Amino acid sequence: DNRRQSGGKKVILAEPRGFCAGVRRAIEIVERALELHGAPVYVRKQIVHNEHVVRELEGRGAVFVDSETEVPDGAVCIFSAHGVSPQVRGNAAERNLTVIDATCPLVAKVHQEARRYARDGRTLILVGHADHEEIEGTFGEAPDRTVIVQDADEARQLDLPADADVSYLTQTTLSLDDTEEIVGILHERFPRLTGPGTDDVCYASQNRQNSVKSIAARSDLVLVVGSANSSNTVRMVEVAEDAGTRAYLLPDAGHLDPDWLAGVGTVGLSAGASAPELLVEQVVQRLAELGYADVETEVTAVETVVFRPPLGLEPPAARAV
Ligand code: SF4
Repeated sequence: DNRRQSGGKKVILAEPRGFCAGVRRAIEIVERALELHGAPVYVRKQIVHNEHVVRELEGRGAVFVDSETEVPDGAVCIFSAHGVSPQVRGNAAERNLTVIDATCPLVAKVHQEARRYARDGRTLILVGHADHEEIEGTFGEAPDRTVIVQDADEARQLDLPADADVSYLTQTTLSLDDTEEIVGILHERFPRLTGPGTDDVCYASQNRQNSVKSIAARSDLVLVVGSANSSNTVRMVEVAEDAGTRAYLLPDAGHLDPDWLAGVGTVGLSAGASAPELLVEQVVQRLAELGYADVETEVTAVETVVFRPPLGLEPPAARAV
């Protein structure tokens, strides 16, 4: 056809992409809390790391705050999908807040592991980004016996005796390849090390990275829809770059720079776990306007994971039973 003859421009859409089960659940929790308690309900930090999601919920009456200490006494306070430290729970209890916990169950699992290792008297190496909310929360489980390792160099330089009883845990949204490298270094240095391998990296991060790696191999340019403060999204961009393909993080269609497409035949397109599908649709539409109307989907995994909201916040139909 004419389009093909005029340059063979096309888009490969990665699947799975976009919302994971933890993000869906967290957003649903805010929606149900608004229905149940009425506005305002307070949310500590961005419920998930996406500006569009936050603005949409603000429009419905959610109030986003940086700290639980800003929430009026007795009000409803939702904890974000990234989890919180025990100290934050304590502060909320002191203020008599009605707490609704939207921590992803897969983050809660890592907290549980941290508590178990601390109880066993082990030193905890937490692999992740120190300034990320998830790591702040997990670190808070055992601050006196936890050290944070952010990359391979820090793993090499870690100042602990070789025979220490150490265990490690990782942030859920790390790059699988980086995690393998860091864990390998730690194992060499600390023979008594125990830990989950790469299992703490959640299914959604793993699937999105694998699919981006796959489409990157067939693309001249990879675009990953999502916000710059979204860890799993930034990792997806890095995975594409590591595969040797130019890649950009794209907050939304408005940020797509047509100059990026100079000489590009195939655009690989995916989205981070906190990016709404509507944003992807808008990028697909924008790409079509720019000559990339031919869209194929590459499926590398089928996701069936669903996390239900906590008791009392189920959908109305389930509550009525
Ligand atoms: Fe949970 Fe993974 Fe989604 Fe984070 S990215 S909310 S850990 S499923």
